[in-house]
Amino acid sequence: MKISILTIFPEMVEVIKEYGVISKAIKNGKIDIQIFNLREFTNDKHKTVDDYPYGGGPGMVMKPEPFFKFFDFYISNFGKPFVILTSPQGETLNNNLVKELSQKDNIVIICGRYEGIDERVMKFVDIEISIGDYVLTGGELPAMVITDAISRFVPGVIEEESVKNDSFNTGLLDFPHYTRPREINDLKVPEVLFSGNHNKIEIWRRKMALKKTMEKRPDLFLKKELDLVDKKALLELFKELKKDA
Ligand code: SAM
Repeated sequence: MKISILTIFPEMVEVIKEYGVISKAIKNGKIDIQIFNLREFTNDKHKTVDDYPYGGGPGMVMKPEPFFKFFDFYISNFGKPFVILTSPQGETLNNNLVKELSQKDNIVIICGRYEGIDERVMKFVDIEISIGDYVLTGGELPAMVITDAISRFVPGVIEEESVKNDSFNTGLLDFPHYTRPREINDLKVPEVLFSGNHNKIEIWRRKMALKKTMEKRPDLFLKKELDLVDKKALLELFKELKKDA
């Protein structure tokens, strides 16, 4: 999978390639992340990427010509990409959309700045994506968020079992995790995790995932289609509630 990010602040975005899971995935050839500087696709000596808005008003607009030049260059070198425009007006990013995007093999993400891009650049755009209902100063952070989230779903980047249990994938939030020491400041790790009984551990984890989801995200719980493990876990929760009553 190739993800290319088009920005006027390449140094700001380069760091995504340098840390943790993503840097390992790049080294192992699972993903290829390329950062392009929009200023390199300008024609004037000042490398101008913005101009005044037609019709007047505050702020500047990103000029269309560098984008047209970039896509000419990109398509002739790497083929036609799936193009994402970061925008507060776009579809809000969620787990399903991330999974869908991870199936593409050639993605370009455009980082807007100023008041945004000249509307005519939309002819290259397949989808506008927002990372939430607020306005940021630029699309670099959203581009990094989108790239990070997509990369986790690319086969081989993260252990499949781990992605499977992550929040949202099962329709629930993730269960609580513990590591050594077994006890700290009188806080103990739940006994069941030392039982060696995988079936019991699975039911306990599901029970905790259901409980967390009901408490923190009842909207997700209401949408969840319950399987047998969910039902067994809910029965246990119900028995515990009865005992405490
Ligand atoms: N005038 C635009 C509007 O109100 O829709 C906002 C422009 S914003 C100051 C500059 C750039 O930041 C946008 O073009 C977009 O690339 C990015 N951006 C800002 N907020 C965003 C969000 N919530 N999600 C994704 N991108 C965002």
